[in-house]
Amino acid sequence: VNQDYTLDEAKPLGEGGFGAVCIAVNKTTKAQRACKKILKKSVKDKRAFEREVELQKALDHPNICRLYDCYQDGKMYYLCMEICKGGELFDRILEAQHFGEDTVGMLAKQMLSGLLYMHCNKMAHRDLKPENLLIDEEGHCKVTDFGLSKEGIEDNHSAMTMCGTPEYLAPEILDKRGHGKAVDWYSVGALTYEMLTGLPPF
Ligand code: ADP
Repeated sequence: VNQDYTLDEAKPLGEGGFGAVCIAVNKTTKAQRACKKILKKSVKDKRAFEREVELQKALDHPNICRLYDCYQDGKMYYLCMEICKGGELFDRILEAQHFGEDTVGMLAKQMLSGLLYMHCNKMAHRDLKPENLLIDEEGHCKVTDFGLSKEGIEDNHSAMTMCGTPEYLAPEILDKRGHGKAVDWYSVGALTYEMLTGLPPF
């Protein structure tokens, strides 16, 4: 990573469950990115993790946080992603308490657009929540964190594992009835309700 990027460790963008995220500048293009550093020993299932990385790297859509480059050394993985200086949607909701209908309409349309693109590529996100939605400098919403995404998901009943976050989880996941891509639409519904009222629906 140090060959291609200058990492600005002094200015962390945030702290994740598996490591810090800092600003990185590409030495050739001078483009600014967000570099997520992940301690290898904190990754239990390396195959699942590498699947997450491969999934994200293949996606190119204005409402999906773009993953540009991935590196590893003995201790760490380094993921150089599109930078979203507006932070998490979660913090925006907390700050504003709730949003007006125009803003919610715009954000919901952006989420739906990013998710539809994923679904067209036979993937579902399955863990959509305000913490996994980042905002860029122009206020555009970007879907991120594909830890629970499942490649090759079909429209119905193909995924049986428990996943996601209770407030935004579709009932068919909780009932272990098997679920498809529609679980993401349910999460957008729950998020839209929360953005309008400041409270989760259930
Ligand atoms: P985890 O999923 O392990 O909790 P995150 O990926 O959510 O970690 O990252 C932790 C924090 O780093 C986020 O809350 C956010 O503030 C910041 N961050 C993550 N990705 C980006 C990004 N692409 N651009 C700007 N900040 C980011």
